[in-house]
Amino acid sequence: SDTTGLRHDSLDGLRTRVTGGLITPEDDGYDDARRVWNADIDRRPAVIVQCASAHDVAAAVTVAADEGVEIAVRGGGHSMSGASVVDGGMVIDLGRLNHVVVDPDTRRARVGGGALLGDLDAATQQHGLAVPSGVVSHTGVGGLTLGGGMGWLTRKAGLTIDNLVSAEIVTADGEIRHVSAQDDPDLFWAIRGGGGNFGVVTQFEFRLIEAGPIVHLGLLFWGLDQGREVLRLAREVMATLPPDLNMIIAGLQAPPAPFVPEQHQLQPGYALLVTGFSSGDEHEGLLNRIRGALPPVWEYVTPMPYVALQQMLDEPNAWGFHDYDKGAYLEELSDAAIDVIVKHLPGKSSPLSVLLLYRLDQAYSEIPDDATAFSGGRSPRYAVFIVAVCPAPDLLVSDRAWVRELWQALQPYTPHFGLYVNALTDADDDRVRSAYGPDKYRRLARIKAAYDPGNLFHHNSNIKPAQQ
Ligand code: FAD
Repeated sequence: SDTTGLRHDSLDGLRTRVTGGLITPEDDGYDDARRVWNADIDRRPAVIVQCASAHDVAAAVTVAADEGVEIAVRGGGHSMSGASVVDGGMVIDLGRLNHVVVDPDTRRARVGGGALLGDLDAATQQHGLAVPSGVVSHTGVGGLTLGGGMGWLTRKAGLTIDNLVSAEIVTADGEIRHVSAQDDPDLFWAIRGGGGNFGVVTQFEFRLIEAGPIVHLGLLFWGLDQGREVLRLAREVMATLPPDLNMIIAGLQAPPAPFVPEQHQLQPGYALLVTGFSSGDEHEGLLNRIRGALPPVWEYVTPMPYVALQQMLDEPNAWGFHDYDKGAYLEELSDAAIDVIVKHLPGKSSPLSVLLLYRLDQAYSEIPDDATAFSGGRSPRYAVFIVAVCPAPDLLVSDRAWVRELWQALQPYTPHFGLYVNALTDADDDRVRSAYGPDKYRRLARIKAAYDPGNLFHHNSNIKPAQQ
């Protein structure tokens, strides 16, 4: 046995059983293979198993369970806290399981557990179809879906999990199971919001909706001094917004991009990112309403392919920055909450750090709260993301403090329970419990005890198995 607890003969055994590859510290490519999105995470696993099939995953899970080796499961590698890489243990890397098979007639897609949103969008858009997901195309379908999944299409068609029909999952006992509303319904409930706690999902099956191929974007920008007016206007507009339109409210610095007038590049302020999935006229009507109420300092309005919208925020969220975030829900964007935001936004240091408010209502709110394990009630709300994105580690020191201070100051305005687990960076036990609330947590803990009694899958927002 070496220092990792993984015996050389079981490593050799695994090498003969997996059709994908095994990477250990001696191998070329080890440093690339262990790297994750957040450059602040630097961990050295004993072995990275690049699984190419559900059978590879089952073999890896079985060896790790038998040897008592720590497992981290890796989809897109976006976990802010580094949940997908582990020092000294085994990374089950799903990157090769990135197939997307679309059936336009039944409007279904089968998607590998390690596919990225960009893979999903590219394949579905060939048929003018889409799965509601997130807003950065290099995010993993795996982690995003298992936590919920929210983005531009959430108001129109719900969370990503609301469009999940079935999944193939490898559980802690090494079984490959098919789960759906009919098969293992408890497990199917749990993976729709319960994260990676219940096993390794090797394939998702999604229902598809019509979206694109051309959508409408309007980016309207105001200076820091107009924050209060912008946020109040956004609140007012949002109250009557049809589901084909959406807005992300952002506190940010204008990017140094060609579509930003030169004198406004890198200026801090507030933006409304207004998307339209129906006619250009409906979108333009909304923009006119906003312009009429509060003329922006500059704006950029254009039709674009849906896939381009999905990639629009890729660059400012690129791999290799030092990152930290926290999330919260606000059931109302009250004047008091607006005052907190306006007071704290100017305190950030990195030009890439942002505050984002996603709107969750309409289709999102048509799903009963107890239909899935999602960590957030289904009443209309905003999901707030306070994100430090820093080109250098020293900036992260101050912007981590900025994230925490703004998050803390918003606490009086957040609901008693509910935190989006995909934005749960400091996922200690108390916080995971309050993310789900007592009822969902209890049900999740019982299902965890049935499928993973030894808590093999614990590099995640961990749900402790209920005592039998
Ligand atoms: P990973 O780090 O690979 O995995 C995250 C967690 O999920 C780990 O615990 C991992 O073990 C587990 N996991 C991953 N795949 C599987 C699988 N197939 N089976 C079992 N467990 C698995 N979220 C949104 O909802 N909307 C957004 O718009 C959005 N934008 C984001 C933008 C950026 C730049 C980042 C960094 C994150 C964003 N998120 C968003 C949050 C994102 O959903 C989570 O970070 C998510 O966990 C990422 O999944 P991943 O597969 O890329 O990450």
